[in-house]
Amino acid sequence: TDILSEYVSKTQKSKIIFEEAIKYLPLGVSSNYRFFDPYPIYLVKGNGGRVWDVDGNEYIDFILGFGALEVGHANPKIINEVTKALQDSSILGFEYYKTVELAKIISKRYNVDMVRFSSTGTEATMHAIRIARAYTKRKKIIKFEGHYHGSHDQLLININPMVQKDRVPSSLGIPEETLSNTLVAEWNNLESVEKLVKSQSNDICCVIMEPVAMNMGLIPPEKDFLKGIFDLSKEYNFLVIFDEVKTGGKMYSGALGYYNVKPDIILMAKSIAGGFPLSVIAGKREIMELIGPNKVAHGGTFNANPISVIASYVTLTQILTENAFYYMETLSDRLERGYRDIADDLDVDLKVTRWGPSGMIYFSKEVPRNYKELLKTDIPRWFTYFYSMLNSGILPMAGFNEQWTVSVMHTKEEIQKHIEKAYDAVKKAKE
Ligand code: PLP
Repeated sequence: TDILSEYVSKTQKSKIIFEEAIKYLPLGVSSNYRFFDPYPIYLVKGNGGRVWDVDGNEYIDFILGFGALEVGHANPKIINEVTKALQDSSILGFEYYKTVELAKIISKRYNVDMVRFSSTGTEATMHAIRIARAYTKRKKIIKFEGHYHGSHDQLLININPMVQKDRVPSSLGIPEETLSNTLVAEWNNLESVEKLVKSQSNDICCVIMEPVAMNMGLIPPEKDFLKGIFDLSKEYNFLVIFDEVKTGGKMYSGALGYYNVKPDIILMAKSIAGGFPLSVIAGKREIMELIGPNKVAHGGTFNANPISVIASYVTLTQILTENAFYYMETLSDRLERGYRDIADDLDVDLKVTRWGPSGMIYFSKEVPRNYKELLKTDIPRWFTYFYSMLNSGILPMAGFNEQWTVSVMHTKEEIQKHIEKAYDAVKKAKE
């Protein structure tokens, strides 16, 4: 309560905006995930690794637009190129001539044959399911507990340990019929996938996953788990879809490059476009060539608009270079070691996972291996830590099921400050 009253006293202008906002915007926000109790902060601007709220509070930002901004806020290279591009229109209605250059870069870097662009991760996963169904002529999808693939019905299905059912919609308004086509397996449990595949082998069109789960903390696949799924896909003829909306921009060639595997379809968004809306649906030629008139529908007014194309081009060619990944990895590794030292020093049950520029902490004796284990970690403690961090000017991560992300514009000093403030916040959480 002390922590919350400090939060309220520091964010009085946000509070006033919130009170106005809830009259016009449900929850006072434009995405449910931006809301937290008692009201969220409202931001004005960002620069590099920092953002400022309406009260003038400065925060070092490790949320980075839910992992969409590894280029950092107001990156000068992005500003420069996008400002130039704006002079030549932001939407042309026909195909922008430079789109092919971006498609080529993505094709080489991620080792995919063909690419289509949409604007959001949600659109990418939605189309991927349609393509997989068209290709296999089957309709059932397997997804994993705790994985998030955007806000459309087919994939907004998860488990709820409080409810005695194997799966439930994550939203009102999703019809029962939709549930029958989306099956839910347990992450890092190959048997759970095998069981579903075997029982409905003629119906499964695809397994879709976040290859490193980043909507339930940060939980990488265990050894041989991915291989097991690829083996099953060959035996039972379903497609493997990697939702790399987060991971795609977190290693130079995404998770598929890191684990050296070849999924049938990959989806990317967020960081690969330097903070602009652009998503990628990519995959093997014979699958992607199903897209077309009288075949698989794919469209979108803002698809591959010149601004997003230029922003992504600059991001991939000039900003998220191999050196940049090395830099982000070094900073993120420092954070990881910082948290491990804090856990030792304070003798608190705190575990850390990390993958490239991102990492996560859990108030737990064990590192969670799946969603149910994440839910068993000490989430109230995490909230105490979170609000203490906000009060001390750090946005550490967007939720107990999210993770930190380091940008190319963060500095060593900012990492050091994060660690110092985290020491106090973990100490408070321990009390
Ligand atoms: N897939 C993953 C793995 C995500 O993390 C997200 C967003 O958080 C999405 C898909 C949906 O992307 P968008 O919010 O751009 O629709």
